[in-house]
Amino acid sequence: MARWPFSEEHEQLRASIRQFVESELAPSADEWEREADFPTSVFTRMGELGFLGLAYPEAYGGGGGDYLCNIVLAEEMCRCNSGGLAMAVAVQTDMAVPPVFKFGTEEQKHRYLTPAIRGEKVFCLGITEPDAGSDVAGIKTTARKVDDGWVVNGSKIFITNGRRADVMTLVAKTDRDAGHQGISLFLVDSDTPGFHVARTLDKLGMHTSDTAEITFTDMFLPEDALLGNEGEGFYNISWELQGERLVGSAGSIAGARRTFEAALAYATQRETFGKPIGKHQVIRHALADMATEIEAAQQLVYAAAWKVNQGEYPVREISMAKLLTGEVSWKVADKALQIFGGYGYTMDFPIQRGWRDSRLIRIGGGTDEVMRDVIGKMEGL
Ligand SMILES: Cc1cc2nc3c(=O)[nH]c(=O)nc-3n(C[C@H](O)[C@H](O)[C@H](O)COP(=O)(O)OP(=O)(O)OC[C@H]3O[C@@H](n4cnc5c(N)ncnc54)[C@H](O)[C@@H]3O)c2cc1C
Repeated sequence: MARWPFSEEHEQLRASIRQFVESELAPSADEWEREADFPTSVFTRMGELGFLGLAYPEAYGGGGGDYLCNIVLAEEMCRCNSGGLAMAVAVQTDMAVPPVFKFGTEEQKHRYLTPAIRGEKVFCLGITEPDAGSDVAGIKTTARKVDDGWVVNGSKIFITNGRRADVMTLVAKTDRDAGHQGISLFLVDSDTPGFHVARTLDKLGMHTSDTAEITFTDMFLPEDALLGNEGEGFYNISWELQGERLVGSAGSIAGARRTFEAALAYATQRETFGKPIGKHQVIRHALADMATEIEAAQQLVYAAAWKVNQGEYPVREISMAKLLTGEVSWKVADKALQIFGGYGYTMDFPIQRGWRDSRLIRIGGGTDEVMRDVIGKMEGL
């Protein structure tokens, strides 16, 4: 039976995504993790299956579903056993592409949205810069207006899918003196002269996903590369960040639940002092705390997602969900590793991957501190 807030249709979708993820992605996860890469054909295959555009209108090649379909996808992707792969897909489905649908012209939607849904164009999102992460308004990449377009100079860092992307949704300054109103969005083809992948970053976790630094040198963009209205980019990217945070929360807490299940299974098998370690009260209580905190965080994710599905814009709940799921996922991963003892610390057991991957959610897409600031402001402080 479907569990709130999902319907029977969502559960059917869940079953088909699960079948795909377990049969076509999970078996290769270890190899892709070792190679720190995965084939771009994953995008085309997911496009064929309709998983990259679940909630977009059919007119653009989407599935015509509701927002909760995206939550189902994020939850099921954690079964691929690779946080990096799940993140790469989420950047496409819930981060870089939604602004095209929300703010793009019809021409932009046909040129970019439809191929993104088919998995023919891979997207990345360019917000963060070497000198500006949390302070988005402090970015220095400029798009200077010229007669028939824009000339972009600057750089972006930590760009997921940056090495393989065909298109970047770019945040740039179009008026240095206008503060928040001086920022605009652009759609940039990565083969545009002046677009350069400077390096791939080596990371603690999320190894399967590529993370790049990208530079722009006198990169010319035509007029129609502007996405949305000039000067509205800060507000438009703030809208994008809500979806990014919520889907990140859904994926990370679903991952935490899987980690918990692995720890629970281990605690029933591993024996010390003549009984399974789960029968020692300390371990039993640790598992009880993990189960409780996962349940609470997941219900907060569902409450926020339900509101989004109703057409609301629940920044407060999304920020709380991001903060809580980040902290709970990290705590669960750490406690699980402890329950696995020395084996948890070896590379032979997958627990270390979840421990490394889960750490990112407290940083990416807005740190814990930024979430606390948003929540504090909304509480009137
Ligand atoms: C693996 C990975 C993938 C990523 N993918 C992308 C991507 O695809 N696209 C993209 O644009 N970005 C991406 N990011 C960037 C990510 O969103 C930023 O790292 C994040 O927003 C934090 O910015 P920063 O690293 O510059 O930290 P900073 O902003 O320099 O913050 C450093 C520390 O100071 C704290 N801090 C900052 N300001 C305040 C304040 N006002 N009050 C209290 N504390 C504060 C922060 O919370 C943090 O603890 C990715 C990052 C990683 C690691």
